[in-house]
Amino acid sequence: MKRLFLSILLMQFNSIVFTQNIVDSDVTSIPIEMLFPEGKNKALILSYDDGNIQDRQLVALMNKYKLIGTFHLNSNKLGKTNYLTKEEIKELFIGHEVSVHSANHPNLTTLSKLDVVYEIAEDRKELERLMGYNIRGMAYPFGNNNDVVIDAITGLGIEYARTVDDTYNYKIPLIFLKWHPTIHQFAKAFWEPNNPENDKKELATFYKIINDFNATKELAILDVWGHSWEMGSDKMKWEETEKFFQLITNNSSIHYTKQIDLVDYINAFNNLKFSVEKNLVLNLSSISLFFKYNGKTYNVLPGKSLDF
Ligand SMILES: [Zn+2]
Repeated sequence: MKRLFLSILLMQFNSIVFTQNIVDSDVTSIPIEMLFPEGKNKALILSYDDGNIQDRQLVALMNKYKLIGTFHLNSNKLGKTNYLTKEEIKELFIGHEVSVHSANHPNLTTLSKLDVVYEIAEDRKELERLMGYNIRGMAYPFGNNNDVVIDAITGLGIEYARTVDDTYNYKIPLIFLKWHPTIHQFAKAFWEPNNPENDKKELATFYKIINDFNATKELAILDVWGHSWEMGSDKMKWEETEKFFQLITNNSSIHYTKQIDLVDYINAFNNLKFSVEKNLVLNLSSISLFFKYNGKTYNVLPGKSLDF
């Protein structure tokens, strides 16, 4: 009886200690969640390929709504019929990102590794000369990529490469050299000509993705991609583009960004040094970083540590 009493007492004591341990480990098991600059939970990427002359109208419309774009250009096409000129791109894309789309827009998966290296390095070099800054992003021509292509571009200074494999979600891509976008602009409505029934369905899909993004309180990236030539000279398609821009502009929970800046932000966040107890963090980057922990938002300044 005495022994039983003692062991019950011991069990209770153990359970108290155990409970105490649970409380401690509960605190450290609460996840640290990344937030975007200024503590925002959403980021928007608008990514357009090919550098056609209609980019002029598109950039003007984006500037009107204070939207930021990422433009993937083929340097050997610049100056040809229907393409932007080399002389104009520096000024045209002020405030936007210019990025690699290969020199000549081939299907990279059909080329030798040497030719893939040429297409990317040449485009990168020429765009850097024209823009006067480091070009570190890319979109695959036709979205086509495979392990050989990815292996070839690794080491060429490309830090993300966008595909055309729409995810219809807002998750942060795990592999930046296989950066799958959320959705093609208008979900490919107008892609096949004279198919108004399809267009209607695709537009409905597109606006559902946009409206769900506007409504979400979760961490979310909306990455819409397309081409200005898809709008061509069709007034109705440009009006649809403006309607889309009106839906996403001027939203205080959205961080509007060049894609490379978002990549830099996420990389810097992933390089934060947290203590085991999650009460101290060191930011070795030059970027002001934000995170959420236990219901609170924190900001750790560039090159600083933070007690929290
Ligand atoms: Zn393209």
